[in-house]
Amino acid sequence: MLTKIIAQPKIDHFNKWFERADSIVIISHVSPDGDAMGSSLGLANFLESQEKTVNVIMPNAFPDFLRWMPGSKGVLLYDKYKEYADELIAKADVICCLDFNALKRIDDMADAVHESKARKVMIDHHLYPEDFCKIIISHPEISSTSELVFRLICRMGYYDDISYECAQCIYTGMMTDTGGFTYNSNNEEIYFIISQLLSKGIDKDDIYRKVFNTYSESRLRLMGHILTTMHVYKDHHTALISLTEAEQSNFKYIKGDSEGFVNIPLSIKDVCFSCFLREDTEKEMIKVSLRSVGTFPCNQLAAEFFNGGGHLNASGGEFYGTMADAVKVFEQAIDKYKPLLIKKGL
Ligand code: 5GP
Ligand code: MN
Repeated sequence: MLTKIIAQPKIDHFNKWFERADSIVIISHVSPDGDAMGSSLGLANFLESQEKTVNVIMPNAFPDFLRWMPGSKGVLLYDKYKEYADELIAKADVICCLDFNALKRIDDMADAVHESKARKVMIDHHLYPEDFCKIIISHPEISSTSELVFRLICRMGYYDDISYECAQCIYTGMMTDTGGFTYNSNNEEIYFIISQLLSKGIDKDDIYRKVFNTYSESRLRLMGHILTTMHVYKDHHTALISLTEAEQSNFKYIKGDSEGFVNIPLSIKDVCFSCFLREDTEKEMIKVSLRSVGTFPCNQLAAEFFNGGGHLNASGGEFYGTMADAVKVFEQAIDKYKPLLIKKGL
């Protein structure tokens, strides 16, 4: 049995909307990851099974390694089909906002969502949800939004209607947001849910391979390059990796190629904090990704130095300036946070 973590009045409220709604739009955050896609496509699959008209709209493209996901072909990309997407958002009965807590996380889609008269529900696990949805199902203690979608469907009484495809999507989100169940994954109920998803027929080992082992040769070579240029700040138990525009073109970088790189330095014994700086040509900024092991608050450092935020152990932000300046700011940041940068207890 699962603990009833979502409050009953929220389930009742959502149920009322669900019964009345015909047209439902599901949206998630910019640069959708496995959990954004998994929760959105999983919920979409379920709602379609209940004869609802569902449109999944993402602010921009999702990575190639998620293309196999059931329903991914029907995902509408806002940056490509803005007019049509605006119309769907404006006319929807209900908009489900999945895996994000603030309108700025959906980039250019924010205005359309803000202005839409649709009823809005947030289903998310990021800290400090903003107040732009009538129903807010926000559980930062839960490691993925996909898990929350599973819990919601079950609490609505539809476990039996979860299809094989829906189960595949939910598992993908749970797996990717926990690094293949290697962090944020000690809640025993995760494994109860996995056993239920297995009973729907999913092949979890195959999903792992599809997501993590389908990279290109150039991605692996890029990884090699990044690791040779990695800087380790021994006294700070910290590592920094970076990727400039020039390096990206040398290695024929395509979107998604650096997914997961930020986690690699954490495999060094005494490193508890890792940072990845990547020049983003489209947005003319440096994307900052931060990961930690243990108690180091990535989200505090991200908020203070990189106008960002996120979870304790996985956060991100942005830097407007040169790579050299970003590195300088990062070095100031780790100097300031040095007392908290302690060895892993191994
Ligand atoms: P990633 O490093 O995978 O891009 O992001 C990890 C987590 O950090 C995300 O799930 C999100 O919670 C948070 N995050 C990433 N970028 C930003 C950002 O620019 N602003 C905020 N507030 N959070 C971010
Ligand atoms: Mn997530």
